[in-house]
Amino acid sequence: MSATAHRRVVAATRNGGKLREIKLALAAAPVEVLSLDAWPDLREPVEDALTFAGNAAIKARYYAAATGQWCLADDSGLLVDALGGRPGVHSARYAAGDCPSGAGREAIDRANNARLLAELESVGDDRRTARFVCCLALADADRIILTAQGSVEGVIIARARGENGFGYDPIFLVPELGRTVAELDGQTKNQISHRGKALKQLAQMLDQMT
Ligand code: IMP
Repeated sequence: MSATAHRRVVAATRNGGKLREIKLALAAAPVEVLSLDAWPDLREPVEDALTFAGNAAIKARYYAAATGQWCLADDSGLLVDALGGRPGVHSARYAAGDCPSGAGREAIDRANNARLLAELESVGDDRRTARFVCCLALADADRIILTAQGSVEGVIIARARGENGFGYDPIFLVPELGRTVAELDGQTKNQISHRGKALKQLAQMLDQMT
C-alpha cells in the first residue's frame, strides 16, 4: 500500500453542510474523512487573511498542528458583483452583528441572506450576478501539501427558494439549471458547485499521489 492510500484526513470545519459535501465528494478518494468531533474543545483559529486561499491555509495548518493529522480546510464565500465583491471573505458572518450573541449558524445564515437581499433591493435582475468561490488547503503539521480552487457563476434572486444546502444556497440561482442551489440534491450540487469542483481536483491529485 502506498503512503496515501486510506490515509486519515480531518475535515477542518464545524460547518455540517461543508462536512457533508466534503465526505460525499471524497467518498471514492484514497482517504478516510474524519470530522472535528473528536476534538470538541479545540477553538477556531483567527481567520485574518485577506483572501480565501490565505484563510484556507491558516485553518489547515492550525488544525493539522493541533490534531497531528492531515487536515483539509475549505475557505469559501459569495462574491456579488453589484456589491463590489461583498460579502467575500466575510460571507460566514456578514450579518452576525444583527443576531443575538450566541445565535446558531442557521439563524446567522438567515440574517446574512436577509441583509444581502436588502442591499440588492433596488438592483435590477441583469445586475444581480454573483459567484461562489472555494479554496481548499490540505496540510500536515509542517506544510501545505495540496491546494485546489473552484467557482460557480449565478444570480441572486429576490426570494429564497429550496430547503437543501446551507448559507446563501436558497438565494443563489444557477441559470443553466433554473434552480437555486438549495433546490439541488447533494450529488447535483457537488457536480456544479465551487466546492465540488475544487474537491474533484483535490481527489485527482490524491489519486496521483497513490
Ligand atoms: P468559511 O467557513 O469562513 O469558509 O465561510 C464560508 C461561508 O460562505 C459560509 O458560512 C456561507 O455563508 C458561505 N458559503 C460558502 N460556501 C457556500 C455554499 O456552498 N453555499 C452557500 N453558502 C456558502
